[in-house]
Amino acid sequence: RAKDEGGGIHCQYEPKLHIHAEERRTLEIALREALEKDQLHVVYQPVVNARTGACEGFETLVRWTHPEMGAISPAKFIPVAEDARLIAPIGEWVLRTACQEAMHWPSDIRVAVNVSAEQLHNHQFVACVISALAQSGLPAHRLELEVTESVFMREGTVATQVLDQLLGLGIRLSLDDFGTGYSSLGYLSRTKFTTIKIDRSFVVNAAKNVPEALAIVRAVVALADSLGMATTAEGVETEAEVDMVNALGCTKIQGYFFGRPMPAEEARQLFRRTGGISAVA
Ligand code: C2E
Ligand code: MG
Ligand code: MG
Ligand code: MG
Repeated sequence: RAKDEGGGIHCQYEPKLHIHAEERRTLEIALREALEKDQLHVVYQPVVNARTGACEGFETLVRWTHPEMGAISPAKFIPVAEDARLIAPIGEWVLRTACQEAMHWPSDIRVAVNVSAEQLHNHQFVACVISALAQSGLPAHRLELEVTESVFMREGTVATQVLDQLLGLGIRLSLDDFGTGYSSLGYLSRTKFTTIKIDRSFVVNAAKNVPEALAIVRAVVALADSLGMATTAEGVETEAEVDMVNALGCTKIQGYFFGRPMPAEEARQLFRRTGGISAVA
């Protein structure tokens, strides 16, 4: 978004895919239709306690399979949705779906939902969250909203006010993809995040013993600790990466090693099979 606003703001670290205007237009039309025809669905990826391996919650990830084009990555269509003003209705649908689904899980299991900066620059989002909680019956403390650093890059105070109102409801906030955006640490003291999510790129390089990546993960964990925040290592795929992020003191782990994003039914089965899972791998 910063790109659109000019003003010498660069976002070279933002992993946005650059797609051509024509493809963007095609996707926008198809996405509008998908929303009307209920062609989106969500999957849930386990987040586990780093020490015990116990599942503590799931992150909700949206999926779109187009009848002709096939599966389209959210990394590709979410930016299109943001530009086409479709992110509010999509985000609301994901939020309501996730809150309802979490009611089928044990009461100590949380659900995380990604929220675009776009959504947080609108006061109506708070009403949307209140309504999703009320309709589903999910207690606020079981809902976690994931935001990225980009939310702090825009002019105005709407987003920080909205974040404060959300915290006032008792929901949790996590800072997603930490270290890949415009890292300014000011907002860490401004907004009370529960968790800092350390991007997979740092996890990969730390496990390869790249000194800079090790130093960064160590520093982020220390920073989070001293601010009373938890840390989640994202995209952990191998045992070596598990060992590394554990040694560095991350408190939670998410990644293919413990579980891929899965359909709702499969997530429910995890609890049925073991009656309170201790490890999902
Ligand atoms: P994210 O929030 O950082 O989500 C984590 C991404 O990493 C997901 O990709 C997930 O499938 C992937 N991942 C998880 N474990 C591993 C692993 O071990 N290895 C690797 N290589 N990847 C792993 P996905 O589902 O493609 O989502 C991409 C991004 O799209 C998300 O990044 C998030 O920013 C955005 N997104 C997804 N769903 C939503 C949504 O409902 N709303 C909004 N606003 N954004 C969403
Ligand atoms: Mg996320
Ligand atoms: Mg992330
Ligand atoms: Mg990420």
